[in-house]
Amino acid sequence: MKLGNRILNITGGGSDGWDVFYRARAMKAEGKPILELTIGEHDIRTHPDILNAMHASAMGGHTGYAAISGTLALRQAVADRITQRTGVPTRPNNILITPGGQSALFAAHMAVCDEGSRALFVDPYYATYPGTIRGVGAVPVPIAAHARNGFLPLASDIAAEAPGAVSLMINSPNNPTGVIYDAATLTGIAQVCRDHDLWLISDEVYDTQVWDGTHISPRSLPGMAERTLVIGSMSKSHAMTGSRIGWICAPEDVIARLVTLATHTTYGVAGFVQDAACFALAQGDAPERAVAAPFARRRQITLDLLAGQNVVRAVPPQGAMYTMLDIRAAGMTGEGFANALLDAEGIAVMPGESFGQSAAGHIRVAMTIADADYEQAVRRLLGFAATLA
Ligand code: PMP
Repeated sequence: MKLGNRILNITGGGSDGWDVFYRARAMKAEGKPILELTIGEHDIRTHPDILNAMHASAMGGHTGYAAISGTLALRQAVADRITQRTGVPTRPNNILITPGGQSALFAAHMAVCDEGSRALFVDPYYATYPGTIRGVGAVPVPIAAHARNGFLPLASDIAAEAPGAVSLMINSPNNPTGVIYDAATLTGIAQVCRDHDLWLISDEVYDTQVWDGTHISPRSLPGMAERTLVIGSMSKSHAMTGSRIGWICAPEDVIARLVTLATHTTYGVAGFVQDAACFALAQGDAPERAVAAPFARRRQITLDLLAGQNVVRAVPPQGAMYTMLDIRAAGMTGEGFANALLDAEGIAVMPGESFGQSAAGHIRVAMTIADADYEQAVRRLLGFAATLA
């Protein structure tokens, strides 16, 4: 039996870029000691206080169907958080609660794209982006953000692809590069969106992991609230990856349509998970800072070790839980280096090429293992690169 083209085309037919990751997992399963710096997941678990709130809610009976749009209490808490942090007045009717940021990215493209629509996104990109766009039947169009420009997209490059496009997806703080878009970059992007009547899908799931610079939500720029869909998630901010809880913040009429979509897809998010999220948000930003702190420490470890050599160069990580390293001086592709490093040192990193052609010749290091192990891994990685150069 033949399946539908949309689902068959999600990966675009090529490799999904995770070969090194799967090889590392297989080596680990054989009992080899592997240091994994691959996946964007904390080395801590969800705080017990949040789990207690989840338990209390479930035991209290919140185990039936929950409001499909999200509970009013959680939508209010998310709206208040956004109002407070961005200055844009935001109400519960601007919020749809979703099972994680990924489903929010999919729903956002469902909301704005038609079949065959050109949907722009920035390369390097988070691995699911092109597949998410293809999944709704639209055509992914990458905008290269070059290493020589600090992986910031140029407004002129976006403008060149904008005619006939319906949307642009951006991600700051960025996975995989760790770059935070500055005010000038975002102002330029907003101008292109207004000039070409593009929807902006702004993935801000790393907004609590800012080490250098300031996170600006482009929804706060002039004329942007009416055309921006912001993607949020508690996966990274509260180490709640497994709870699958996130949101879309958008104009009220867009949210109303998205509630209809949710009625026909997810049917909402578990009520006890929403209550736990509400509890977590009520604790203010101290728990968010605590969850982010290990990455700030490991970023400093990385910068200190890099300063002691001159083969590997970093794009200075300003945010998120990753460091992008330029290994071109070692004379290899990112993929070649990642494979060789895994074989020689038992250290797994992601090849830059997994995140698009603009990240070729780079590797992405996830700062997601304990400090001492992390330091040892980066030390050995740099030592290995030095033997190649
Ligand atoms: N956007 C980016 C940039 C991500 O890195 C991730 C997860 N790694 C997501 C969205 C989705 O996260 P979740 O579905 O867990 O909220």
